[in-house]
Amino acid sequence: MISYWEKTSFITYDYLIIGGGIVGHFAALELAQQQPNAKIALLEKGLFPHGASTKNAGFACFGSLTELEADEHTLSIDAQLQLVEQRLKGLEQLRQTLSDTTIDYSPCGGYELLFDTAENLEARCERWNSLLQPLIGSDTFYNADQEIAAQGFSTKHVKHMVGSRFEGTINTGKMMYALSKKVASLGVMRYTQSEVIGWEPHPTGVHVNVRVGDESLVLQAKKVGVCTNAFTKKWLPELDLNPGRGCVLISTPIPNFSLKGCFHYQEGYYYFRSIDQRLLIGGGRQLAFEEETTIQFGINPKIKAALVEDVQRFILPNTSFKIEQEWSGIMGFGPHKKPIITTIDDRVTLGIRLGGMGVAIGASVGTAVAEKMYSN
Ligand SMILES: Cc1cc2nc3c(=O)[nH]c(=O)nc-3n(C[C@H](O)[C@H](O)[C@H](O)COP(=O)(O)OP(=O)(O)OC[C@H]3O[C@@H](n4cnc5c(N)ncnc54)[C@H](O)[C@@H]3O)c2cc1C
Repeated sequence: MISYWEKTSFITYDYLIIGGGIVGHFAALELAQQQPNAKIALLEKGLFPHGASTKNAGFACFGSLTELEADEHTLSIDAQLQLVEQRLKGLEQLRQTLSDTTIDYSPCGGYELLFDTAENLEARCERWNSLLQPLIGSDTFYNADQEIAAQGFSTKHVKHMVGSRFEGTINTGKMMYALSKKVASLGVMRYTQSEVIGWEPHPTGVHVNVRVGDESLVLQAKKVGVCTNAFTKKWLPELDLNPGRGCVLISTPIPNFSLKGCFHYQEGYYYFRSIDQRLLIGGGRQLAFEEETTIQFGINPKIKAALVEDVQRFILPNTSFKIEQEWSGIMGFGPHKKPIITTIDDRVTLGIRLGGMGVAIGASVGTAVAEKMYSN
């Protein structure tokens, strides 16, 4: 039961955004900036964002060498370069919007660990350097073998390391906190613990069914942006979209520990970095693809054991460490790494399927969703 005052002031909006991750926030931000007089609300099912945006590893990356090579199986080089450009522009936009100091951006550079003899490595770096040259303006990848021992990795296992000059790290929590604050400061109403059940077209716009605790109510908007990434499939089962769970482990503080850079291996499936003198490591989804194709949060013991073993074997071979915390997040994947940005009828626009690169492309996907909403 709602009051007359609620009915006249809180029910009807110009724009409603469903999903309070990085994409939903950037969509709301762009709408608020372009249409300062519009009534805008963002609906989030969790108390905090409850998908991937506060669960990720905080890598500000655009693709390691073997990841770019692997993606050649599913995308043309032109499509891949467009995607890299979108990632680079998205990262730039993220940094410009929130400031490097606010999100603890560190241009630390990235490294990819290789465990075999890695044939033609120099030529493979050169090939991708020249492909990326028009986007980046200088060489990206270089041989970093001499840094393997200096970083403390086991030279018995890590045979090569490829440096990537323009990668960095952020503090994910600070990023999403600042983004929420900014969106709220522009007058966007943010409703958390508000789960959207579905929506229906209506002659004057769209009716959105929302569950809040035991109650449900219908909000109305002229346009709706759906930014629920992997969780979108329940409404649109025909979408080429699959969930993918990712897990992260973080150690207790290790005296004098700090890695210089952000690190990946096996086509980007694994990643690690340091934060606050702790080791953060995640990934390994490919060890149990089927089990990890889920929207249920949780830690797969097989993946956790593999990550811990890698730490002991070649990341911190001479250091004892203890896992203090572990968590999972849910990503959205498709047959290739291009996100879906589309208007499914005049009034509902989707910005979803960000894969493992949402820190990089979230800003640009959210902005594109907003542009479609206010220009159609
Ligand atoms: C473990 C892990 C590590 C990662 N590491 C990195 C990294 O280092 N670098 C990188 O670039 N990317 C990384 N990613 C990927 C990145 O985090 C995602 O691509 C990005 O956060 C997706 O943002 P989003 O806004 O599209 O989706 P989400 O963050 O999932 O946001 C969608 C939101 O919609 C909400 N929602 C869902 N259903 C409803 C509903 N019915 N009603 C209301 N709200 C709803 C959810 O609660 C969620 O908050 C990682 C992901 C994971 C899981």
